[in-house]
Amino acid sequence: MARIVMKFGGTSMAGTERIRRVANIVRRQQIAPDGTRHQIAVVVSAMAGETDRLVNFCREANPMYDPAEYDVVVASGEQVTSGLLALTLQGMGCPARSWLGWQLPIRTIEAHAKARVDAIDADALTASLERGEIAVIPGFQGVSADGRVTTLGRGGSDTSAVAVAAALKAERCDIYTDVDGVYTTDPRIVARARKLRAVTYEEMLELASVGAKVLQTRSVGLAMRERVRVQVLSSFIDDDAAPADTLPGTMIISEAEMEQMVEEGLMERQLVTGIAHDKNEAKVILTRVPDRPGSVANIFAPLAAASINVDMIIQNVGRDKGETDVTFTVPQTDLLRAQALLEDRREIIGYNRIITDSHIAKISVVGVGMKSHAGVAATMFQALAERGINIQAITTSEIKVSVMIDEDETELAVRVLHTAYGLDAPDEVG
Ligand code: ADP
Ligand code: ASP
Ligand code: MG
Repeated sequence: MARIVMKFGGTSMAGTERIRRVANIVRRQQIAPDGTRHQIAVVVSAMAGETDRLVNFCREANPMYDPAEYDVVVASGEQVTSGLLALTLQGMGCPARSWLGWQLPIRTIEAHAKARVDAIDADALTASLERGEIAVIPGFQGVSADGRVTTLGRGGSDTSAVAVAAALKAERCDIYTDVDGVYTTDPRIVARARKLRAVTYEEMLELASVGAKVLQTRSVGLAMRERVRVQVLSSFIDDDAAPADTLPGTMIISEAEMEQMVEEGLMERQLVTGIAHDKNEAKVILTRVPDRPGSVANIFAPLAAASINVDMIIQNVGRDKGETDVTFTVPQTDLLRAQALLEDRREIIGYNRIITDSHIAKISVVGVGMKSHAGVAATMFQALAERGINIQAITTSEIKVSVMIDEDETELAVRVLHTAYGLDAPDEVG
């Protein structure tokens, strides 16, 4: 007997027919072909498009919406799908019940709309699993210390699933989605992207944080800390296919496990593991900022105080008269707030003009192989230059190089780099 957490994303839950297919996968996971019964907790997303629709209602109701009420609205999408899945399972003769975030409870801390899971009370849930019931838990939602509904940020159901798996000490957490694993890049952009049999936590964390939305970044960080075994699998399989977890997906593994797979010839070490893109950032340029100690702190301190994450930063070469331009990026959703904060402080910072541009994209190449090999960045710059793609900013970490480019060139840049690092799948034979 194993305890398994299964998570199904929005496309997998989009409508009653898709939910029936999910219920079938769950039912077949609960009772293995040899008759062994497993304990199953299922975490579900809202139907695809539903959360966007709810976010838009909030914006229409009040553009300066209160995040606490926003959470009440957007958390509702998952309430619907968890009830529907429990009903469908019951219809198939499987005992099942839903457990809303406040019922378990899933306690969260920090801000509304981007709350973090603090603790999950798993006693009632464990008792229910031990009675053979399938527990259906809405992802994305929790409850704050003062009893209000919270949500975990977009894509947060992945994090709910990993947190539930950690609380239940589950054997593994299977993330079912609309692709059958983690690829070298988004397979919807590059048809020749290759599925990775395994990827390390560290690389997945970096890939997710630079835009590979197949897993929410926080879910990977949590899985790494709590040592949760995560596997990415497809829910788009036929009802009579082999049990879903026996089909090849992608395992998220530790560096030591990866080394062993490489040694056994099951994986090849590539310099670059994957390429990701992110169109959700915006560029801000402050011109003619005084080139003296404290200037940069005056810009970034208020943004940090307002919980606005700054990503790429470039302080351009000083101009005459001790002035310089400062360029940086913020999430597009925070651009208006950032702009307002900076305009309020124009006198203190002492800049001349503020210029913003949302028409940018960040393209990143990620791979632990970079730690020990030079030349990864040079290959990137060369490949982009050959296609006439202009680089507006660069940042690097130990296992990542990111560049900012014009948004219109995103798909081209991803394809060019995928080829440049030798990641393209071989031609189909025949
Ligand atoms: P879900 O609704 O199941 O949570 P998401 O839309 O959040 O699904 O994530 C799955 C999507 O992630 C895929 O449809 C794919 O387009 C995208 N994606 C981006 N990068 C990758 C990658 N490297 N490998 C696989 N999928 C990726
Ligand atoms: N429904 C939420 C969203 O669309 C959470 C999730 O699906 O992971 O962001
Ligand atoms: Mg998702």
